[in-house]
Amino acid sequence: MREFLRTKGFKMTPQRELIFKSFFAMGKHVSVDELYDKVRQQDSSIGYSTVWRNLKLICKVGLAEEVNLGDGVTRYDRATETPHGHFYCIDCRKLTEFGMDNIVGQLAIISRENDFVPSGFKIEIQGRCRACRDKRAGEKTTAESAEAQRA
Ligand SMILES: [Zn+2]
Ligand SMILES: [Zn+2]
Repeated sequence: MREFLRTKGFKMTPQRELIFKSFFAMGKHVSVDELYDKVRQQDSSIGYSTVWRNLKLICKVGLAEEVNLGDGVTRYDRATETPHGHFYCIDCRKLTEFGMDNIVGQLAIISRENDFVPSGFKIEIQGRCRACRDKRAGEKTTAESAEAQRA
């Protein structure tokens, strides 16, 4: 990692190393706040903006990318060998990943047909996960049976 950063023209400081290590230990879909909390557990002298700047740096050198789902929280996802898409539950905000092997070929064809050269693909599908659908169904049933009891 140190070597890698040097080739990109960045120095690895102890603080930076801690931030990088924490990020990659956390893995997926990490917000600045979450990373900040984690880093502070080890070194409380690190400021929020330092964490934020280093996250941007991790993205800049291609080791992670931003995931924006329109809920006002930017999450950072470590780069994966093959692109993956996300299912985003609008109730519990959980992100689930899926492989895009089947779709990528299709997207390449569509891009070609539209004379567009893509530099990456991002697919975010919004909806409700199983647990949240069950929960809603449960609430509905309770409401209905309460209704039935009144009748
Ligand atoms: Zn992801
Ligand atoms: Zn959910």
